[in-house]
Amino acid sequence: MSSSAAPRRCLICGSEPRRSFRLSNAAPLLRCPRCGLGWWPWPAFEPELFYNRQYFQSANLERGYSDYASLEPGLRRMARSRLRRIGKLLEARPASTAPGAVSTPRVFDIGCGTGCFLAEAGRAGWEADGCEVSAHAAERARARGLAVTCTPIEQLDLPPNRYDCITLWDVVEHLRDPRAALAKAAAALRPGGVLALSTGDITSLSARLSGPRWHLFNLPEHLYFFSPGSLRRLLARVGCRVRRMTREVSWVPLAYVLERLGKSVGGRGRLVSLPRAANRVLPATLFDVLGIYATRGTPTRKHPPCSATEPRL
Ligand SMILES: [Zn+2]
Repeated sequence: MSSSAAPRRCLICGSEPRRSFRLSNAAPLLRCPRCGLGWWPWPAFEPELFYNRQYFQSANLERGYSDYASLEPGLRRMARSRLRRIGKLLEARPASTAPGAVSTPRVFDIGCGTGCFLAEAGRAGWEADGCEVSAHAAERARARGLAVTCTPIEQLDLPPNRYDCITLWDVVEHLRDPRAALAKAAAALRPGGVLALSTGDITSLSARLSGPRWHLFNLPEHLYFFSPGSLRRLLARVGCRVRRMTREVSWVPLAYVLERLGKSVGGRGRLVSLPRAANRVLPATLFDVLGIYATRGTPTRKHPPCSATEPRL
């Protein structure tokens, strides 16, 4: 497929970017002065070749995950809490837009990886499909009986008005054109349907304190760096209204936390063998990953407040 290099102007509001500090690969961080979107001048590349087997299971910790499968219990737990949030928004949609009571809700997960979220959605009674650019991960998802196509979102035809929910967990920052992808997702939603996503927050305290060493300046796979304001604008552009923003809490094995800590202080190899307790999942957050839950509808000028039970943005 064709590849394309980074845009010269902000893809959300069209503004000329300002140069900020240099990132780990010496490329400058570009920031939109108007909406706060961040990106870097990435070269053209082929994502299908990048997200291969090694990305999901690699002893080389410079990129990807050392053992993605070990994250599964935590990912499933996160999936269940996300499905609860989505369910609450769907319950609140006007009766005129909700499908009949006997209709099975449909979710499509863009960039579904090995299918943890879809598997939990299926268990919760959803009709669950997805797409995944990594052939290795898509194969793993299909091996557990999920309907997953190995197609990048740019090439995927999603039928209009079909889904009650479309999700992109830690995906938008990887896309070369997140605006086009979200527009496609929004068009595939039924009115009142939920567009849910997660991504890092470049305005978070963690990002501001860490500067170029912020762990989500994860190059070359992360192309964009969002803020609450840029996401609200972007979603409004595609006809969705943000209904809830959260700071995402990950449930991860202790071993994973230690691995990431080792990476952040400059280590590259796998840590020495860890005791069995290292497989226990713990809540972990730096309050720098946003969960965004929007509904397809008419955008409004007034931004909704954040949930009272979670840190304000
Ligand atoms: Zn902008």
